[in-house]
Amino acid sequence: MDERLRQDLANWLDFYRQLGIEEFYRCTPGSVAPLPATPGGRAVGAHGHAPLPQPSAKPAITETKPAISLAAPVPPQRPEASETARTAPIRPPAPSLSLFETAPPKPSGPETLEQIRADLGDCQRCKLARGRQNIVFGEGNPHAELVFVGEGPGADEDEQGRPFVGRAGQLLNRMIQMIGMKREEVYICNVVKCRPPGNRAPEKDEVDACSPFLFRQLEAIKPRLICCLGSPAVRTVLGIKEGITKIHGQFYDFDNSKALATVHPAYVLRNPREEKILREDFEKIRKFLKGK
Ligand code: SF4
Repeated sequence: MDERLRQDLANWLDFYRQLGIEEFYRCTPGSVAPLPATPGGRAVGAHGHAPLPQPSAKPAITETKPAISLAAPVPPQRPEASETARTAPIRPPAPSLSLFETAPPKPSGPETLEQIRADLGDCQRCKLARGRQNIVFGEGNPHAELVFVGEGPGADEDEQGRPFVGRAGQLLNRMIQMIGMKREEVYICNVVKCRPPGNRAPEKDEVDACSPFLFRQLEAIKPRLICCLGSPAVRTVLGIKEGITKIHGQFYDFDNSKALATVHPAYVLRNPREEKILREDFEKIRKFLKGK
């Protein structure tokens, strides 16, 4: 080895020693080159055939420090908690939920029929909604002394959205006139507000879903007398399961009102001889409203 190369090699070895690298080896041809030393490691090597770098002069330690950058980069430190607290925006405390959980004040006094109708909305609370054309909420005098409750709309009622407008309704109108009243003076509604298919009787789940609206209507109107037309209305309003032909014409208490059961006009249309029952019961209604 000539003197110049020896001197260069000595300079490089001295340079690496100052960096803390103490051991050196030389790769022979065919050997596997080792990986560079780990950061802060103690060994370094070079292929035997690879030329060593040729520094022009012994490098100063300060100049070679970047070579140590083989070390993994130090991850950025999280700011101290206190620093986070300092720099985090100050948010106002969340408002108390109780401000929003408080139910809006209920209007004083009883509900109006308009409010109950609005609450019913486009009702889908039971399966009768699927086959209806119109909800038949009820109609008449919102301050009526006399309220008629049927079981549910028929085809004509479903089509028009009004209660008792078919043949049974015409018979009811005649009965109302018979006792000296006009249809506009009374209120007429049903246990269920949508037509049961095939005019069948409403089923229990349908009555359970819809009857709360009936009771709210009665509460809003506060009539003197409720006339239940047919067995489903009697069962719903009075909870009486006996046959209508046994209990018709009797007065029952319902809150601060009275209730009376009679046969449904549609039943009379199918059984014309039973019109006598209807007439007798309507005469009782007339006397009751006259205070007799
Ligand atoms: S019958 Fe009454 S509860 Fe059922 S969908 Fe009609 S309005 Fe709603």
